Amino acid sequence: ALQLVWFRSDLRLNDNRALAAAAARGPVLAVFLHSPAQWQAHGHGANKIDFWRRGVAALAEALGELNIPLLQRGIADFDAAPRTLLALAREHHAETLHFNREYPLNERRRDAAVQAAFSAAGLGSHGHHDAVAFAPGELLTGKGDYYGVFTPFAKAWHRHITAERLALADAPPAQTLPGIPSEPLPALDAALADEAIVGHQWPAGEAAADRLGHFLRYRSRHYLEQRDFPGVHGTSELSPYLALGMISYRQCLNAVMAENDGQLNEGDAGLAAWVNELVWREFYQHVAAGFPRVCRYQPFKQGTLALEWRDDDEGFAAWCEGRTGYPLVDAGMRQLVATGWMHNRLRMVTAMFLAKHLLIDWRRGEAFFLRHLVDGEFAANNGGWQWAASTGTDAVPYFRLFNPTTQSTRFDPDAEFIAHWVPELAPLPPRARHNPPAAERGRLGYPRPIVEHKAARQRALAAFKALG
Ligand code: FAD
Repeated sequence: ALQLVWFRSDLRLNDNRALAAAAARGPVLAVFLHSPAQWQAHGHGANKIDFWRRGVAALAEALGELNIPLLQRGIADFDAAPRTLLALAREHHAETLHFNREYPLNERRRDAAVQAAFSAAGLGSHGHHDAVAFAPGELLTGKGDYYGVFTPFAKAWHRHITAERLALADAPPAQTLPGIPSEPLPALDAALADEAIVGHQWPAGEAAADRLGHFLRYRSRHYLEQRDFPGVHGTSELSPYLALGMISYRQCLNAVMAENDGQLNEGDAGLAAWVNELVWREFYQHVAAGFPRVCRYQPFKQGTLALEWRDDDEGFAAWCEGRTGYPLVDAGMRQLVATGWMHNRLRMVTAMFLAKHLLIDWRRGEAFFLRHLVDGEFAANNGGWQWAASTGTDAVPYFRLFNPTTQSTRFDPDAEFIAHWVPELAPLPPRARHNPPAAERGRLGYPRPIVEHKAARQRALAAFKALG
């Protein structure tokens, strides 16, 4: 009997649990629901939405080669998902709906509503766990709680991981399914299309696999030394692909094991460090599922709810536009706006600068990131922001503030990244670019620092101390 597979953030044929399970039971009919208005309501911007669409187009092509039709429907919001899917299932006499689970609150609610509708109609539905090694709730502390700290989570993850959990699911076989034509991609709203940065550096689809190969061949052995330097392509740059499931974390981990004598946590130190980043990714998915308050604009640390953030629209605009007068911060923000991606070191530096130096509500920064990031993903973004703002799990102690100038001399030692993204400072000798003298700033049209580091630090400490 016909199996309906609903794709969402799992845009791949290979190692896709829902697709493999469906294909094992019968011919497959694939469906994707485009809901740009809902994605925007969740804060995603043009870059990610455009990448999503390109990913669906690539998926349609790959499915087409196996003669698996892909139906595409535009829906206004998640509320329309149950009736749209139910109508398709009835029209095509599908037996069961398959999908891979997503863990943030609204996605779980949407999926529960879909499953309730299917069950009320006497149809089967199955939510598969695919995006993470352990379903949320499978790894808990000794007291039976979700982990609120990364290190013990990671230890438990490594203790319990098995080859079986990481086994790759088969790609579906070619099928013969007569009479159902694939449907074209719905048009993208002109305003969104205009805003999207054409991402030739992010070709959509399972081309991600080549990127993984490239990382393992050329970058992974230097990962430990190079991953913190924004001016070096030292990381995998796989985040957009992982966020939309164009590659699976299992494919990543299997490739690591193949290079590393079957090991994940030992052996090559660069590979082990990289695996750790994938465990961070999983950790934040568990946090989103286990502490749903973080999905409701709440801090993980409830004691920080009363923190008095400053109302400072001018400061916020200067941060967004990369004119805080701190060259490394400005370079990172300009990279984000110009490319839809920012290096991890700079995500930490710029996020902490907004939340601590400017003492502006981290949620404004979180939203700005999500609107621009091509890899924008709720759990990782929220986790990273709350970390930087000292409101989250593992949060940096509130009294720790990166000194942006020190970060600059350490992680962009030749100030080449700065020269690229803040070209008005390029005429200066490299050492002067980290913190140009006032006269040079005036001459080059570069702003003075918007806040003074020590004073900003005192102000942030006072605000946190006032929480008692
Ligand atoms: P690599 O170093 O090659 O890491 C491999 C993969 O591990 C990444 O692709 C990503 O999937 C995962 N990963 C790495 N670091 C983290 C982390 N700290 N938390 C969760 N997963 C991680 N990552 C996103 O994917 N989407 C986001 O929206 C996002 N927002 C962030 C916001 C802030 C404030 C901070 C501090 C971090 C954020 N990150 C986010 C995490 C991290 O910055 C990116 O995943 C990373 O820079 C992507 O580059 P890469 O693929 O080359 O990473």
